Amino acid sequence: MKFIRIAGLYIFIGSVLLFIATLFMGNYTLSQTSIEKTFDGKDAKVTETFIAVAKENGVLDKTYNDQFSFINDVKGLFDKHNEKITQAVAEEKGITSTQTKKIINDATQGGSVSYTKDVLEKNLAEAEVTSLDKATNWMYSPKKTYDSAEAFQKDLKTKISEINKNKAKDFLLYDNKYARFNITERAATGIIADNKALFLFLTFGLGIIGSLMFIISRLFLKPIPGIKNNGIYLNNATNRGWVGIVVFGFLVSFYVLLYFHPYIISNWTNILDPVKSIFIENGSASQWFLYGILYTVSMTVMGIRMFIKYRHNQYQVVRTASVLFFQIIFAFLLVEILPLFDLPGVDLKNAWPLDYNFLTDWNVKNYLDSGHLGKFMFFWGFILSIVVVPLLVYIYGKRWYCSWVCGCGGLAETLGDPYRQLSDKRLIAWKIERWLLYPILIFAIVMTVVVGYNTYNIVVTPELANDHTFLGINAYAINEWYGFFIGSIFAGVIGTGFYPLLGNRTWCRFGCPLAAYMGLIQRFKSKFRITTNGGQCISCGNCSTYCEQGIDVRAYAQKGQNIVRASCVGCGVCSAVCPRGVLKLENGNDDGATRHEVPEVILGNDMDLFEMLEESKK
Ligand code: SF4
Ligand code: SF4
Repeated sequence: MKFIRIAGLYIFIGSVLLFIATLFMGNYTLSQTSIEKTFDGKDAKVTETFIAVAKENGVLDKTYNDQFSFINDVKGLFDKHNEKITQAVAEEKGITSTQTKKIINDATQGGSVSYTKDVLEKNLAEAEVTSLDKATNWMYSPKKTYDSAEAFQKDLKTKISEINKNKAKDFLLYDNKYARFNITERAATGIIADNKALFLFLTFGLGIIGSLMFIISRLFLKPIPGIKNNGIYLNNATNRGWVGIVVFGFLVSFYVLLYFHPYIISNWTNILDPVKSIFIENGSASQWFLYGILYTVSMTVMGIRMFIKYRHNQYQVVRTASVLFFQIIFAFLLVEILPLFDLPGVDLKNAWPLDYNFLTDWNVKNYLDSGHLGKFMFFWGFILSIVVVPLLVYIYGKRWYCSWVCGCGGLAETLGDPYRQLSDKRLIAWKIERWLLYPILIFAIVMTVVVGYNTYNIVVTPELANDHTFLGINAYAINEWYGFFIGSIFAGVIGTGFYPLLGNRTWCRFGCPLAAYMGLIQRFKSKFRITTNGGQCISCGNCSTYCEQGIDVRAYAQKGQNIVRASCVGCGVCSAVCPRGVLKLENGNDDGATRHEVPEVILGNDMDLFEMLEESKK
């Protein structure tokens, strides 16, 4: 068994190294076929123009050895494509360069500038007159005077270029991270692109097999059930040692590449094309599909580890099964399957404000354009956040979501379980927690109000949706800032990347606005509490050590006081690791003050020794 365990470890490490190495394998060629695949669904004019631009710039059919030099040459093509297609559209249905010259000639005769609507009517058709009149009537003489013909020409050409660009807007391409990713992924050639299924097995397949060999063999090596955290502070992987730092480096790099430079990891998505093809014929995996698969696989494999480690504890077994169910069915499968029925591919358990895009215009339109079921899903989003979440927190505490349903909580409780002891228990950490968590909740509320107002205007009163601002805040800007700092940096890069250094609930404890919202209800109006049989406590400190939320559980146990804390996610591990059965997660009566009461005397020690001595003398 020991051999199987060690072999499993080596197989897992080998598969991870190969997974990383695939980023440096294969070639990239921008062929006609790859361009057609990239812009599939767009007008044929777009593909034709891009092929022509790639040819003119010597990039078409040129082979690159890595994605960096490939994208370095390709990124400039987007602007050139836009210039070319704008010119072509202008010739066809815009204001041509010849017409522009004629207008300038007529308006600058005699050395001075005399620009009037008559000049436009003389040179343009009625539709063009209307659009140019609207854009340039402020330039008409004598309202506006120009010192030089050059200044006039500059203003006019800028406005004509804007009009032409607007006419060509359906054919324009934008150089952003998604465009770079799409074009790089389709341009991949060579060993990875030709052997996707093989690499799928060698990376994901062997990774799963290796880790399961490592995990399941422990069942036979340590056959007696019980939590064995022996040596956890002496292990380099779990005590912020070098293994932990390597894992931290890998996780942070992964999130940075995923969120900000996905084109670099296009080979990883290529490897997953055979899996994507299960859902869509000849499907091409996106970076979010890669993330979904990695997330679900990690949770499932580490969930099996949880089943083995906590197999004597019914609460932990059922809780782990629950988070796996919600991840696999709701967060992964339904998100893939719903779009096949023309429904929005959304995670139906993702509640606002964790789902910070809920009220964005594109999301709301997506719901409303998807028939009755789409509208119902939109309605469900409101019901979930406004009714279901508070009601269930009142009855069961926030554990019903954080430890039983949520994807972030699910990953923390499975992949993050080896790191739960690293949570900071100091007072300063508690202060930082409150100063971060609640302002983020306020930020989320303000952002939602601004974005919601903008969406309402766009959907219901489009004539009012001109500047997209409310209370002086631009809806798109605030949504982008929130997405960047909270959604990507905090929830992803720090929240998960820092597991091996800060513990597994950094995001849930310091950043999640939904946890803040539920925490307030749990603290002031809920039936949930952890009761303590203080007289039995031996002050070993196991509970505080393994509390992932950094709560000093022992301090409560020593006083025999109920644990009623906004931050408690009800994971139940404090109770599971207690050798004396002191702690119990309960849903009792919401009896107000008594829920928070601090007993004067520790339960079980309710005796006066001097009094007893006197008694015995009698
Ligand atoms: S107090 Fe116990 S149940 Fe609550 S978060 Fe900490 S370990 Fe989990
Ligand atoms: S683990 Fe149990 S016995 Fe140890 S300090 Fe906590 S409540 Fe007391």
